[in-house]
Amino acid sequence: MTDVDPCAELARWLRGARNVVVLTGAGMSAESGIPTFREAHAGLWSRFDPQELASPAAWRRDKALVWGWYAWRMAKVRGAQPHAGHRALAGLGHARSGLTLVTQNVDDLHERAGSEDAVHLHGSLFASRCFACARPAGNVALPPDAADSPSLRLEPPACTHCGGSIRPGVVWFGEALPQDAWERASQAARECEVLIAVGTSGVVQPAASLPASAKARGAKVAEINPVATDVSNVMDLVWRAPAGEALPLLVAALGKPEVSTQPC
Ligand code: NAD
Ligand code: ZN
Repeated sequence: MTDVDPCAELARWLRGARNVVVLTGAGMSAESGIPTFREAHAGLWSRFDPQELASPAAWRRDKALVWGWYAWRMAKVRGAQPHAGHRALAGLGHARSGLTLVTQNVDDLHERAGSEDAVHLHGSLFASRCFACARPAGNVALPPDAADSPSLRLEPPACTHCGGSIRPGVVWFGEALPQDAWERASQAARECEVLIAVGTSGVVQPAASLPASAKARGAKVAEINPVATDVSNVMDLVWRAPAGEALPLLVAALGKPEVSTQPC
């Protein structure tokens, strides 16, 4: 693959495809200032392993610790803006009918960039619900300093219906994915001709199985990520670039007349 310009090649694939899946992960939002889990764990400011906070066991152990961490994440996202890569994907979704955007992200940056129908495999930070009765909690108020520290302790609000604790609306480690979202994503992966994985490390299942499942049905699969991942070996094409640079280049290349050797 060394002589192939990944941007021109991917644009060529997309021109020839009817059904396309774009699978995004935390790296998609990194350039908006939202830390990925890897960065969060590596960061000196964090005393916690995200994997140990994002679970029902962690919640039962220490609700104030978990809710404080999610309040920090909600506040970070509220203060962030989508970048050119999010906007490029939204434009692509409007320009072609067969694109399914599947995200592992729990932020709302795809929506705020204009994507209307992203499939959220892991739920949303902004869909808090009662841990006991599952009723939606609506918009939860955050303290003004929520964005300051990931290790703020904060008691979760009480459910107005049953008094139970309000929990984040995300899928935790050990929990099942929302069935409708998973069915849509896995069906789209089985039916697509091209799948592009953007900013995902490919370690969280079952989302990480989508590229291989698309490939097994004959799709071409590509990865946009500055570094190699656990699913790089499945890929027909790798583009080592950040999402905020690569996706606008890709969309620009699609807008140009097709010249097979044209670099992006
Ligand atoms: P991950 O943290 O495991 O991996 C992030 C990947 O993004 C890495 O492979 C990294 O190399 C890549 N990356 C970093 N900067 C990038 C950039 N500018 N452009 C492209 N790629 C870049 O994330 P994951 O694979 O999504 O899986 C872990 C879990 O993290 C998911 O369940 C997700 O819900 C959760 N998460 C979500 C958010 C969010 O919603 N923004 C943030 C952190 C974690
Ligand atoms: Zn309740």
